[in-house]
Amino acid sequence: MTTIALGLPQRRRDPAQAPPIDGRPDLAGLIDRFGRVARDLRVSVTETCSLRCTYCMPEQGLPAIARDELLTAPEIARLVGLAVRELGIREVRFTGGEPLMRADLGEIVGLSRQAAPDAELALTTNGIGLDKRLPALLAAGLDRVNISLDTVNPQHFARLTRRDRLDAVIAGIEAAHEAGIAPLKLNAVMMRETLADAPELLAWAVARDARLRFIEQMPLDADRAWAREHMVTAAELLAVLGERFGLVEAGRHDPSAPAEEWLVDGGPATVGIIASVTRSFCQACDRTRITAEGTVRSCLFGDDETDLRVLLRGGASDAELAERWRAAMWNKQAGHGISLPDFAPPSRSMGAIGG
Ligand code: SAM
Ligand code: SF4
Repeated sequence: MTTIALGLPQRRRDPAQAPPIDGRPDLAGLIDRFGRVARDLRVSVTETCSLRCTYCMPEQGLPAIARDELLTAPEIARLVGLAVRELGIREVRFTGGEPLMRADLGEIVGLSRQAAPDAELALTTNGIGLDKRLPALLAAGLDRVNISLDTVNPQHFARLTRRDRLDAVIAGIEAAHEAGIAPLKLNAVMMRETLADAPELLAWAVARDARLRFIEQMPLDADRAWAREHMVTAAELLAVLGERFGLVEAGRHDPSAPAEEWLVDGGPATVGIIASVTRSFCQACDRTRITAEGTVRSCLFGDDETDLRVLLRGGASDAELAERWRAAMWNKQAGHGISLPDFAPPSRSMGAIGG
């Protein structure tokens, strides 16, 4: 066990030693022992954030990552290019922390676009400052944006995020709408404190042609306050939404998409429900993650990270980096195990992994 700059204990593989690849067939893609193939890459670009959502960050924010431990824009782009060219990644999503906190996000997107001309490049953001940055990000090659918004009640928003910034988030959403980003996707974490606001949020999203998806809260908060008995389940949320809207189950957009879709009042509007805890989709998971410090994380809940930054800065070739990434993913765990009696949350919180 070592302690890293985030101040959180975690296991990290000795960079000189590759994870075991016993039994791995000689295939180019990011396959694992359970037959899953990763095609969706999440890249965290920072641990800093303009909000302090209680289900994610501690009140004081996460301890800062030393600047020289953060991947630079060219380093991120190199890994993105490699992932798309050599490892079968099709979609790349920049996340964090709050990616808009990085002044060089435009450069990250632009260089990634050059490195991976045909990949889908997307951003997950809390929307604060998006109105000013969006034109440059789109010009740099960004394709899609997901914005997180849990409630449109200003007091509840301020309590949940510990910041009175609802207007700034809404300005970001409106800018994305006006820029013609379609479908504009909104993400909301289901929280007991805002459960009664859910129908209003859905009506608000439908009125703006936005596709809202509710996500069950996972035990990934830095405060470790998550409790199974307290969390809002998908079933509970559906019951609350069902009091105001007619909801008809419409299945999933594609089998590996985590959201189950429901037609709202006969459609065409839909609402998505991501039941990450009560109806886990681990068996169809197609994600791989790079943390802001350049480690591969094969699962949100797996602390066993593989350091690519050390290799990258040590002059490793693309082939060596790709081999290490494949080995990391081969060892991906079967599932999050939240319902198992011996479940323990991972040492990094959501903001330190990249959601
Ligand atoms: N700051 C950006 C944002 O909020 O969209 C990007 C990073 S955030 C960690 C990515 C997504 O993870 C957000 O949609 C957020 O709501 C979600 N999230 C954070 N903590 C979560 C938790 N404990 N359970 C479920 N989703 C969570
Ligand atoms: Fe920041 Fe996003 Fe975490 Fe909220 S969910 S604290 S906006 S990183």
